[in-house]
Amino acid sequence: MISVRTLLYLSKLYSLCKNFVIIPYRPGEASLAHHGVLFLDELPEFQPQVLDSLRQPLEAGEILIARANHRVTYPARFQLVAAMNPCRCGQATEPGYVCRRQPNERCIAQYQARLSGPLLDRIDLAIDVPAVTAADLILPAPSEGSAEVAARVSLARDRQARRYAALKLDGVTTNAACPPALLEDVAQPDPEGLSLIRDAANAMRLSARGFHRVLKVGRTLADLDGEERVRRIHVAEALSYRSHTDRRPAAA
Ligand SMILES: [Zn+2]
Repeated sequence: MISVRTLLYLSKLYSLCKNFVIIPYRPGEASLAHHGVLFLDELPEFQPQVLDSLRQPLEAGEILIARANHRVTYPARFQLVAAMNPCRCGQATEPGYVCRRQPNERCIAQYQARLSGPLLDRIDLAIDVPAVTAADLILPAPSEGSAEVAARVSLARDRQARRYAALKLDGVTTNAACPPALLEDVAQPDPEGLSLIRDAANAMRLSARGFHRVLKVGRTLADLDGEERVRRIHVAEALSYRSHTDRRPAAA
């Protein structure tokens, strides 16, 4: 069973990483979610410093707290899941909706600018979830249910674990944990996929981190399809999940 820590921004205005407000050096929410899921609802409502403090654990899987002469490191390898509205009034992307404050595009841009480029660069999958309508509720259930999807995910994870065991990489069992030096070997796309990712890297101004993250997602999509080689279709899908995050420079 995976632990899930759900946070509403109002409940945690201080820090997700450094809980020194109460007890010095007590692990924060990011460490309590180690090997689990950290779910942040209403992401842009968190303070920018709080969100920026997530960059280190998202990259390194641990948190270093340095105060005066003391340094403490806590583990913090968690799956970050976040939800947000498209704009502050909440419905700018719904057909026919008119924002209360300003034109829809400006309302969207202003709200989404609260998330920094470097934070977005560390989010691999971003999807729009349209509101559920009454008509949606009478549609037949999807042909593939949760149990079938779980079986597919499990197979893909086995495939990954075998790949890294064969490479004698201790402690690496998933594409997410694959070291950058090896990535271009294990996730090398076919020639069509390679030319697509090269073009996209320029057009989308992908950072080196973003480029590697697209390769990892592409490798995982190929694993879900049971394919040895990462193909153009996998690269294209991986890029589509990142298209929301190329609005601002992602350096740092
Ligand atoms: Zn709005």
